[in-house]
Amino acid sequence: MTAVSNIYPTAALRALDAAHHIHPFTDTKMLNAEGSRIITHAEGVWLTDSDGNRIMDGMAGLWCSQVGHGRQEIADAVHRQMSDLSYYNTFFKTTHPPVIALAERLAKLSPPQFNRVFFCSSGSEANDTVFRLVRYYWDQMGKPEKKVIIGRWNGYHGSTLAGTSLGGMKAMHGQGDLPVPGVTHIAQPYWFGEGGDMSPDEFGIWAAQELEKAIDRIGEDKVAAFIAEPIQGAGGVIIPPESYWPEVRRILSERDILFVADEVICGFGRLGTWFGSQYFGLEPDLMPIAKGLSSGYLPIGGLLISDKVASALVDMPGEFYHGYTYSGHPACCAAALANLDIMEREKLVERVADDIGPYLQARWKALGEHPLVGEARMTGLVGALELVPEKGNRRKAFDNTGTVGTLCRDISFRNGLVMRAVRDSMIISPPLVLSHDEADQLVALARKTLDDTHAELKRQGKV
Ligand code: PMP
Repeated sequence: MTAVSNIYPTAALRALDAAHHIHPFTDTKMLNAEGSRIITHAEGVWLTDSDGNRIMDGMAGLWCSQVGHGRQEIADAVHRQMSDLSYYNTFFKTTHPPVIALAERLAKLSPPQFNRVFFCSSGSEANDTVFRLVRYYWDQMGKPEKKVIIGRWNGYHGSTLAGTSLGGMKAMHGQGDLPVPGVTHIAQPYWFGEGGDMSPDEFGIWAAQELEKAIDRIGEDKVAAFIAEPIQGAGGVIIPPESYWPEVRRILSERDILFVADEVICGFGRLGTWFGSQYFGLEPDLMPIAKGLSSGYLPIGGLLISDKVASALVDMPGEFYHGYTYSGHPACCAAALANLDIMEREKLVERVADDIGPYLQARWKALGEHPLVGEARMTGLVGALELVPEKGNRRKAFDNTGTVGTLCRDISFRNGLVMRAVRDSMIISPPLVLSHDEADQLVALARKTLDDTHAELKRQGKV
């Protein structure tokens, strides 16, 4: 079959896209005035667009392409599975081999308290499952009044009703009267932006203790769970001060509430451990997963359920009225299994911990010396650059938050590197297969982008 991109020139594709396609998280009117970029091919860490430009995928798609693009082995596994059993459901007392194999594999890969998984198609659906399951758990435990879920401002847990509500993105809440009742938010551990006069460690303790205060304010007997990303991704790669997670752990150990570590970005090697919780020594009761589970080859997510929570399902009678048509889709499970095969065979997680992680971190952190950069941070293979108008002064931000970030992102793309802009910070999260040479190219492209952005801002009189 001929690919659409071979039939239509770029301009025609753009016109059709503008006429018929509504993009996620997009000002459609603005996009259509400008036109979309059209990606037609990808291999490893490289994208090709419809004009034949080669661009480095510094974001692994949307933080998901751990094994890189174009792995034939995954396509073959999906093809074989589809030829055998393209679809069957896991409702009504039925199951199938790929879902069994993937569930067992995840039980083995995850920390010891996790032996069960519920499947879905995305991170948002995983968090919808969280929302419903924590309440069901407390109902089963005879404590139905424990309903409130505590999330964090600027956390991201998806864009469905539950995902948006659990997340702390105020702009999203503003559309449609969210969060839904029964969700509350506490401060995020974002020292660079919100640490005031405190040292990072003082601020980390303060931010952690906001959890304790919230539990006391609401009443422990009413709180069901606390949900947090080990490192906030979409919020701008917020790496908490070292004091933060130990203090949260102390608080959780003293309180009878569930802890949900959203592993949708941090899971599957991003921090150099299979799960971000392991990097920080956390012991969650639930772990939503997606993205790196299949490296994005097919949509699949899931919720890893600890033995403690699973007891409400497996040891107690009662049906949990929850499930999706595509829970445990055979082809998606086959993609995930083939992806995990590659990750284990190529030791990608170990590589992030011992090799490419430290290699890129050292070079990325050196970008902190650039006059436009207030802070360069990176853990594993996920990092951020905070752009500032006045070096050395983290209190001063650019006017019209986001304008400089967007400018820098557009320049970066033109230079041949996908970075994402969050407010006025630049984010990268490259595939875990990034080579040393590609890491050097990434940093060189990022440096050129900073130089070009700085020159443009000078021209505009903004720095
Ligand atoms: N949780 C986190 C931590 C995420 O980063 C995301 C997506 N960026 C989600 C949940 C939602 O996942 P999805 O887009 O697959 O619904």
